[in-house]
Amino acid sequence: MAKLHWKRIVVKVGSALIAPHKAGCSSHFLLGIAHFIANCRAQGCQVVLVSSGSVAAGWHRFPEVNNPNVATKKAMAAAGQADMMATWDKLFDFPSAQLLVTHGDLRDRERYISIKETIFSLLEHGLLPIINENDAVTTDKLKVGDNDNLSAMVAAAADADALIICSDVKGLYTKNPNLDPNAKLIRQVSAIDERIYQMAGGATSDVGTGGMRTKIEAAEKAISHGVETVIVDGFDPDSFHQLLKGQNPGTLFSPFEKPMQEHLHWMTHTSQAQGELIVENDFEGDFEGEHTQLTSDDVVEVKGNFSVGDTVLVRKGDGTKLAKAKSNYSSCLLNFITEQEDPDFASDVQQKTGPIISDKNIAILE
Ligand code: GLU
Repeated sequence: MAKLHWKRIVVKVGSALIAPHKAGCSSHFLLGIAHFIANCRAQGCQVVLVSSGSVAAGWHRFPEVNNPNVATKKAMAAAGQADMMATWDKLFDFPSAQLLVTHGDLRDRERYISIKETIFSLLEHGLLPIINENDAVTTDKLKVGDNDNLSAMVAAAADADALIICSDVKGLYTKNPNLDPNAKLIRQVSAIDERIYQMAGGATSDVGTGGMRTKIEAAEKAISHGVETVIVDGFDPDSFHQLLKGQNPGTLFSPFEKPMQEHLHWMTHTSQAQGELIVENDFEGDFEGEHTQLTSDDVVEVKGNFSVGDTVLVRKGDGTKLAKAKSNYSSCLLNFITEQEDPDFASDVQQKTGPIISDKNIAILE
């Protein structure tokens, strides 16, 4: 890394930095981060902040609760989100803006584009977008669940050059540094594989939902979009001094030299399959060709309930995943077609409606 060379970055800050003891928000650890954000902006680098903390910030409003259930956590998020925003806002002498999203928003292409537009418009007008998951309204089916992965989806949507993930340790270690004194910090990761995930283990913080594993997942999503990713110790103000000098204070994940195309990246890493199209084990269709076609003859089973335009997983009966793709048919119509005895019925429908999936909307899975 040279001197700060990024044009647009996403900074992800976790709950432990904002509401450390579940006793409401504290600006104690945020000052260094706010200073970093202000400096980046002063150097012409746009910043998007992904901030956790709504649940942790709202917790003290429910003094009798130790183990909140899902509904209480949502209520805590509703109670804490405004406090969290206010805490950030008073640290900046420029305006900020709140954007609350769920996975249900991000995986819908139209809403995803709408979120992108809002982020770009805020940046263009000099505001600092502060993004969090809309915990108060989301459900298991609709949520991202952790802000590490959310920050990577935001970095892709914002077309950022870098994603800075603030952690409670310096970066990725060979072993859990809180348990093993021989754990060594890894300075640079050029490819993320199972070995890297094993090093990440399952460490979690007690106020947020993410751990090192979700940070690696986020890095994997981000680097394939060409976003340089750095995990740093958010509690150490020196991390931010070093970043401003273009130094790497933690673990740097190198971006792909050839990032995935935007639309395919969204389909692979942000959208979520709403159903499955199962093909024969000896299916030999080539999804990379110009004339990719999948007809109802190829599909032996349709799983799940999906609508036209939803993402589906195409896989073989033996479990081999072939592709994620946008379905041009609803599950209802596909099931109806496959149940018809007249063989001409399916081809008539497909002549009018086109193939089930088409080449522009397919992400090949390895
Ligand atoms: N969105 C959650 C919150 O604001 C945090 C999720 C996470 O910890 O990653 O409390």
